[in-house]
Amino acid sequence: MTSCSTNVKSGADFSIAHDIHSYANPELVRVRHLNLDLQVIFEQQTIQATAILTIDLSERHPKQLVLDSRGLQIDETEISPDGLKYQEARFSIGTVDKILGAPLRIDIAPDTKFVKIRYSTDPTATALQWLYPEQTAGKQHPFLYTQSQAIHARSWIPLQDSPGVRVTYEALVHAPAGMRALMGAAHASASPDQNAYRFVMDQPIPSYLIALAVGDLVFRATGPRTGVWAEPAVVQKAGAEFSDMEKMLEAAEKLYGPYRWFRYDVLVLPPSFPFGGMENPRLTFATPTVIAGDKSLVSLVAHEMAHSWSGNLVTNATWSDFWLNEGYTVYIERRILEELYGVRRAEMEAALGYQDLQDELKSHPPVDQILHVNLAGRDPDDGATQIPYEKGALFLRQIESVFGRERFDAWLKAYFDHFAFQSITTAQSLEYLRKNLLAVDSQTLPHVDAHRIDVNEWVYQPGLPVSAQAPVSEAFRSVDLKLADWLKGEKIDTTEWSTQEWLHFLRGLPEKLDATRMRRLDKSWRLTESTNDEILDQWLLMAIRNRYEPAYQRVEDFLMTVGRRKYVKPLYEALDRNRATAIYEKARPLYHPITQATIDAIIAAKK
Ligand SMILES: [Zn+2]
Repeated sequence: MTSCSTNVKSGADFSIAHDIHSYANPELVRVRHLNLDLQVIFEQQTIQATAILTIDLSERHPKQLVLDSRGLQIDETEISPDGLKYQEARFSIGTVDKILGAPLRIDIAPDTKFVKIRYSTDPTATALQWLYPEQTAGKQHPFLYTQSQAIHARSWIPLQDSPGVRVTYEALVHAPAGMRALMGAAHASASPDQNAYRFVMDQPIPSYLIALAVGDLVFRATGPRTGVWAEPAVVQKAGAEFSDMEKMLEAAEKLYGPYRWFRYDVLVLPPSFPFGGMENPRLTFATPTVIAGDKSLVSLVAHEMAHSWSGNLVTNATWSDFWLNEGYTVYIERRILEELYGVRRAEMEAALGYQDLQDELKSHPPVDQILHVNLAGRDPDDGATQIPYEKGALFLRQIESVFGRERFDAWLKAYFDHFAFQSITTAQSLEYLRKNLLAVDSQTLPHVDAHRIDVNEWVYQPGLPVSAQAPVSEAFRSVDLKLADWLKGEKIDTTEWSTQEWLHFLRGLPEKLDATRMRRLDKSWRLTESTNDEILDQWLLMAIRNRYEPAYQRVEDFLMTVGRRKYVKPLYEALDRNRATAIYEKARPLYHPITQATIDAIIAAKK
């Protein structure tokens, strides 16, 4: 029964997978919509905000709304049945957990429909990086950007911070004069005289996809639905590098159905950004390290774009299901690359990915080699190894090879339709796979041997099944031959090599190289001066391992500008204690809190 005086939703769906990384109670009270008013204050490195949450109450008469928070200063909470008349509500903040933050409990009434929270963020908020002007390309204005995945949204917005909870939102962002605010949402009418920007996201998304950036930013179109945002000094280069985005989008649509997010833009961030890219809907956040000048590293854009289907449209319900986001996305990324740049390129990327996977399997204990990973008591950022990415993609490749592309593609397209705008668990995804693909009629498809895919072994066991097939790259076979020649002291022709072939060559060299060979490599191809960060990172790693002194200054310069975790982590691991500590002391303030946490642990382990 419902009556006018309550907000109890009979029949509304409150079912949700239990998320060990959230204190929230979405099974009782569900936040459906978020209305944000944000004032970005660089001087104090804080956001002063008001959040109005629209909620539905279940029939179990909840007395409290429980939200996630981390380091938020809560000033006042109010409740309202209609969004007009508000009354003050009692709130309390629970014990702080190092990983999860603290629950924010707000008392609600049976008729509460809106909950208003006035709060401000802490300068140490883990989602926010505040950059000084000298850390930007233009050096004139400061810069702010967010990284909410995995559980950092709670450090700048009090909400039900679980990927199982999807919300729509609107926001008004007040930025300092001369700066532009951007969110992964539709840009609604702004009031430029007060330098306020309005955004609307009317498609329900999980909290980890809520994103904000404020800086000196300009736009350059790359097609009718695509474009780049960047600092004025970077935007032209970025636009040229990513000029294939519209074609990529068309290729992805051809494979997996219509793009549902209207626009696909990329925001190029300053180099401290801890990740390659973050798939914030409508506005991917990307590292400038992929601007190589020759489109050789645009697989990153293909990856983030692929998330528009796997991840943003069909989302992992908990962080243990992370492989549903990343494994599917890596698989799709390579299918997009194949459409645009051909099989040869896609197979090289797959082969490099397989090498990464082999390395990761060696360096992680069996429990962390499992796709459906157990993260009890751990930060979900710890689960973000290459295993969910590359083992997940290999699993899908295996299914594709058994069932054939035509059938697998049709299944995958239907999967995205079936689960569109939902957050699902590993069990739900596997059930759909078994029912709609694996349980094929042996009469109609006599050549298919579904037994060749042991789903349980792939998803719930460590390592790789013996039936797993390694990708084979013909291009790399020819690199291997040249590599053997080079080791014999012969001159080799590398003029036609792509970034991927270079990476394979460098990775294929013996781990220990004497000074003569290191000098020979550097002299032949000027590797210390490389402007391709992927190649440079690989080379610098080799330089540290082989104590190649002429590259050490470049190691330091690189670590002092780039904060991308994938690059800096192996370099700090390889450096000896003294050098690592000396560089990190200077570099730490330049890194995002997520990178800081990773490198802090590496430095501590050296002591
Ligand atoms: Zn991804």
